Amino acid sequence: MTDCLFCKIIEGKLPSDRVYEDDQVVVFKDIHPKAPVHLLVVPRVHFASLNELVPAHDGLMTHMLRLLPVLARKQGLETGFRTVINTGPGGGQEVPHLHIHLLGGGARLPGF
Ligand code: AMP
Ligand code: ZN
Repeated sequence: MTDCLFCKIIEGKLPSDRVYEDDQVVVFKDIHPKAPVHLLVVPRVHFASLNELVPAHDGLMTHMLRLLPVLARKQGLETGFRTVINTGPGGGQEVPHLHIHLLGGGARLPGF
């Protein structure tokens, strides 16, 4: 997608603070962190949101979920972490390229 912010970051056309990458995902720091650790786990393949998930994404989604605790441990989040996936305008999604927020550190996050 030529007009997608996260595709441009993945292609290296826009800067980001990358902490991890492999053949399926790129992980970088959120530019407006809402916690001491705030990462975005972004698939290299473009699709807008969970609304566009198809069975071909099953391996990718499992890969991303399994990566989360590995990334959290690397970031020193020993006591736990929060994950958020915003979907569509009604879910507060600003960037229409699926991504998982990984948040933690500092004070104990309130539950909801
Ligand atoms: P969402 O609202 O779930 O679509 O989340 C989009 C996130 O992307 C927000 O938390 C933004 O702070 C973050 N963001 C926007 N532009 C950039 C950028 N250039 N680099 C890193 N994070 C960004
Ligand atoms: Zn994209």
